Amino acid sequence: MKSIGILGSTGSIGTQTLEIARNYHDEIQVAALAAGTNVTLLEQQIREFKPRMAALWSEDSARDLRDRIRDLDVKVVSGMDGLLEIAALEGMDALVTAIVGMIGVRPTLTAIEHGKDILLANKETLVTAGHILMPLAKEKGVKILPVDSEHSAIFQSMNGEKRSRVKKILLTASGGPFRGKTRSELAGMTVEDALKHPNWSMGRKITVDSSTLVNKGLEVMEAKWLFDVDLDRIQVIVHPQSIIHSAVEYEDGAVIAQLGVPDMKLPIQYALFYPDRYPMQQKELDLFEVGTLTFEKPDTDTFTGLKLAFDAAAKGGSMPTVYNAANEKAVSLFLDRKIGFLQIPELIEECMNRHKLIGNPDIDQILATEAEVYEMIGQLV
Ligand code: NDP
Repeated sequence: MKSIGILGSTGSIGTQTLEIARNYHDEIQVAALAAGTNVTLLEQQIREFKPRMAALWSEDSARDLRDRIRDLDVKVVSGMDGLLEIAALEGMDALVTAIVGMIGVRPTLTAIEHGKDILLANKETLVTAGHILMPLAKEKGVKILPVDSEHSAIFQSMNGEKRSRVKKILLTASGGPFRGKTRSELAGMTVEDALKHPNWSMGRKITVDSSTLVNKGLEVMEAKWLFDVDLDRIQVIVHPQSIIHSAVEYEDGAVIAQLGVPDMKLPIQYALFYPDRYPMQQKELDLFEVGTLTFEKPDTDTFTGLKLAFDAAAKGGSMPTVYNAANEKAVSLFLDRKIGFLQIPELIEECMNRHKLIGNPDIDQILATEAEVYEMIGQLV
């Protein structure tokens, strides 16, 4: 029996993780659940999965939840302290980080310090603090198992292979809803347009990130940390059908890929049961039905968000945090209809230009950089 905690249990990754836990209730025990504000869904999840601990972000919501589940023996906590308490929960084997944004940094660090394996969906954590988390995980003997479909595919394509023989990582991208559009067309894109992803159903923030290609930029940095490869050995390939989830090229020219229908449950389940593969109810991949697989170079002149990610990763230090924090704030302003679509990469670029690089930031400096970027954007918008 594996005992897991889920940060972000009411979201897209969180609810799909619970679907698997429901299907395999003899194998997975849910020890803790955390959400932001969705008290109603969290209550339902608590009644079904009976965790020992639950968290909501505000103390008011937590009080409401305590009131609703008075009949159950569940400790309800709140705020960052609550997330940290869950991350350190005794007897829990693994933490699924399915929360959005840099808020995941400190809980992930705490979970690693307490020897919990990390099932990592929250890529923003690795982008901003990979230089701290990866060595710490190694020191503590903790596994960081990718949930992101591309990174799961790369991980699966490296099974049993010598890492030193990897020549290149081929990171696939659907291209998002605006593939093929010009900059002037992009200028008029609305929130509704950006939220219409052609292949994947995901949370709002990552769906917007897919439309700007910032998501792919974050994934480049995530791959760099997870697989310890230099940037010039990560190639982004637009593959609109989202059937090849990514691939690895080896020294002898062999390219090993993982294919499947676009469904996040597969990488989540693989991370949950790694290295085993359990049966899964899903649409089978029918290559006759797919027919054609196509590949294109990403258009980084139009989608500058991807180019800026390579720049931020090459500069290193605090620059990936600037890239990520500026994007988080800009996407939230875009979703609130306060800025236009093209202002997202423009704000990222402007913040990167203004920031004074910190070479090897610790957690406090990373969080201070986030605050500095938020202030910059406050002045710019
Ligand atoms: P969603 O927006 O669907 O869900 C976010 C979850 O985080 C919700 O449960 C939300 O709670 C919770 N949350 C938000 N703020 C807080 C907070 N302050 N404290 C505690 N919980 C909080 O996001 P996704 O599931 O789409 O994405 C989660 C992460 O996984 C992201 O980092 C994303 O990049 C990554 N990812 C997602 C994929 C996908 O298919 N969705 C694919 C690959 C990676 P509430 O519902 O109450 O607001």
